[in-house]
Amino acid sequence: MSDMWKHYCLVEDEEIDVGEGEECNWCGLDAEAMSIDGFKDAIIGYGEQYSKKTLLVYSYSKICEILRERDGMSWEEADEFAQFNIANVWVGERTPMILYNEFWEGWNGNASHN
Ligand SMILES: [Zn+2]
Repeated sequence: MSDMWKHYCLVEDEEIDVGEGEECNWCGLDAEAMSIDGFKDAIIGYGEQYSKKTLLVYSYSKICEILRERDGMSWEEADEFAQFNIANVWVGERTPMILYNEFWEGWNGNASHN
């Protein structure tokens, strides 16, 4: 159907179809939420603020990690690239949120559950 939009949902861990103009039932994202091309692996969740629409949240350190490992940049190059080309780019109200200095050890899902 053409009036659906495809969305890779981290909550469901699969690509799902959402009706046009509707929000994903699982994570609350809609088709207008902006993503950063090529950095899907740096998405660590969704951000909400009361009365605002859900945004994608990217880890700054994961963005830099992708730039170093995939694109062969040094630490300095990756940091500079990410600052100028990702963190300082405004693409409207649905611009993704960049999270710095995440302190919670369990956020990457690798922590043992005990
Ligand atoms: Zn979703």
